[in-house]
Amino acid sequence: MAGWSLFSSDIAIDLGTANTLIWAKGRGIVLNEPTVVAFDRATRQLIALGHEAQAMVGKTHRDIRVVRPLKDGVIADFEIAESMLRAFIRRVSTGMLPPRRVIVCVPVGVTEVEKRAVRDSAEHAGAKDVHLLAEPMAAAIGVGIDVHEPMGNMIVDIGGGTTEIAVIALSGIIVEESIRIAGDEMTNAIIQYFRRQYNMLIGERTAEVIKCQIGSAIPLEEEYEIEVRGRNLVSGIPQMLRVSSEEIRQALEEPIAAIVQAVLSLLERVPPELAADIYERGIILTGGGALLKGLDRRLEQATELPVHVAEDPLTAVVRGGGKVLENFEQYQSVLLKPYRL
Ligand code: ADP
Ligand code: MG
Repeated sequence: MAGWSLFSSDIAIDLGTANTLIWAKGRGIVLNEPTVVAFDRATRQLIALGHEAQAMVGKTHRDIRVVRPLKDGVIADFEIAESMLRAFIRRVSTGMLPPRRVIVCVPVGVTEVEKRAVRDSAEHAGAKDVHLLAEPMAAAIGVGIDVHEPMGNMIVDIGGGTTEIAVIALSGIIVEESIRIAGDEMTNAIIQYFRRQYNMLIGERTAEVIKCQIGSAIPLEEEYEIEVRGRNLVSGIPQMLRVSSEEIRQALEEPIAAIVQAVLSLLERVPPELAADIYERGIILTGGGALLKGLDRRLEQATELPVHVAEDPLTAVVRGGGKVLENFEQYQSVLLKPYRL
């Protein structure tokens, strides 16, 4: 056995519905890839992972399937999800022993069965000491909040498949809400809008680009226009259209209103002492959905509270997981309790 290969690095994983990020102890973020896999339909062998699998979307023949195994925040296919997690872990440990300690950040709404699946997958990848951390808790730590103090902090993490809302104080989650409306639903709303309004079929990637470039939650100081290509559903012919950010805002209204509503209903459940803290400190937005133009202002108008978008919202969860890993003793109390004794 070569001496150099005896090195192993503990890791923290943000297993997101849209993106998977890994933090390696002492090294920082070592992986940031879409949570996408391509596999052989017949043998169920993994063919490609992450960016490579993403590039195959819509271009494969029928023997290959490309899936997002965590799409709605739940594990749809355990076997595929497990091989994906193992492959991601292997990728960051090439030439090394498997990580001994692994922290996996999971949605607050995760079921016991899913917890076990995540834990088993990490163990099958060679880990000996697996811990689970709730995503909003990780996000709070990642943005620099001192989660141990007796102060309420509210986090809204808008990912691909789920929006997770939580109030955190004294190392724990006091109230939480997880809804399956987030970035994917916004993208989908744009696809539906083109179908309804223009009889035009556009691809998922196209809709996502429109969302990220000109999507908004409130009127913009300067409205934009964008050229969109798709296929006319009546004539079947490729078609090009110009649409405005006003139109896209209208298309996005339903999912945005649902997120705003979920934040308002969680606020109603916050105990009064903590509500006072949140009134002072405001709400922090993390996750890719936090980048939607004007979403912070929209939430400010609805809640009458200050709303801040975290710095680098897409990496907040994994940075929090990394901090827990690097200062493990200090953060024991924030981990999810093990499901088995
Ligand atoms: P998850 O934690 O579920 O993997 P992420 O936090 O990685 O999700 O966020 C991914 C979501 O954020 C996707 O739906 C993506 O389209 C969306 N997103 C990324 N950038 C932007 C942007 N600039 N504007 C709006 N949405 C965005
Ligand atoms: Mg996330």
